[in-house]
Amino acid sequence: MACLYESDVPAEALDRSREVDIFGARYVRYGDMKFYLPIDVEDEEAYVSGGVWPNKTVRVAFADDLAPNRRQNIKDACGAWTNATGIHFTEEAVSNEFAYFQASDANNAPVGYHPGRNAVVEIASWGDLARIAHEVGHVLGLQH
Ligand SMILES: [Zn+2]
Repeated sequence: MACLYESDVPAEALDRSREVDIFGARYVRYGDMKFYLPIDVEDEEAYVSGGVWPNKTVRVAFADDLAPNRRQNIKDACGAWTNATGIHFTEEAVSNEFAYFQASDANNAPVGYHPGRNAVVEIASWGDLARIAHEVGHVLGLQH
């Protein structure tokens, strides 16, 4: 797990902002990457990227209102990662620690796996599989 301190981020990162996701987790966003404030950490600048997903498996969940064709695009983007890396994606029902995909007016995703926390992935570019795969790359832990 790597720390990301605000002082390390260029001042010209104009779109950074502190936000709270739908599961109540606080994060700061730099472009399309979201870095979470660690659980039980008081330091307001101690936002972090996540680690590696256990068992090389990402559990995927979809917002209830996500149409079947959009779900399929996500599965296709995840499939491209499986083909390239051997990392697996499942829709196994879990109560926590899943990548949760929802529609939004912007594309963004948390970086890496965060124990005890869900990864809320927001997608706007539904017709652009490369863009969706890009966001999935962030979920896997890749940064720009
Ligand atoms: Zn990105």
